Amino acid sequence: MKFFCDDNLGRLAKWLRTLGFDTLFFDEISDKELVSKALKEDRIILTRDTKLVELKVVSKYLLIQSDIPLKQLKQVKEKFNLETSEEKLFTRCPVCNTPLVKIEKEKVKDKVPTYVYKTQLNFVFCKRCNKIFWSATHVERMKHRLKENSILD
Ligand SMILES: [Zn+2]
Repeated sequence: MKFFCDDNLGRLAKWLRTLGFDTLFFDEISDKELVSKALKEDRIILTRDTKLVELKVVSKYLLIQSDIPLKQLKQVKEKFNLETSEEKLFTRCPVCNTPLVKIEKEKVKDKVPTYVYKTQLNFVFCKRCNKIFWSATHVERMKHRLKENSILD
């Protein structure tokens, strides 16, 4: 299941990617472009814009009700029965949607702060952003928020 968030739903896109779901989002994109890309790639459009879904060609979409990103995420999860798991968390870059790859600890030595290198075991890498990610306190906070909202199974 692949998604396309409209330009109002950037934070929802980040959450979906964090949960491992293939989700496109662009800051600036015309409705026409968004719809044609979504159709071509067989993506479900997530939008707050009723005008967008009135376009006759759009068949797969969900009209998002809340302003609050975690509530939006919950709506998507419930509507499409999304399966979420801790294993799938942080498998996709929240910034650009590229799948993250594991990178050996020795290889990141000169690229992360010394403290991080000394205290962390697992590192993942985004080829496109050229960024290294590791689990840190904010990751635990995110997990907690997902569990609190009954989003993480
Ligand atoms: Zn990236």
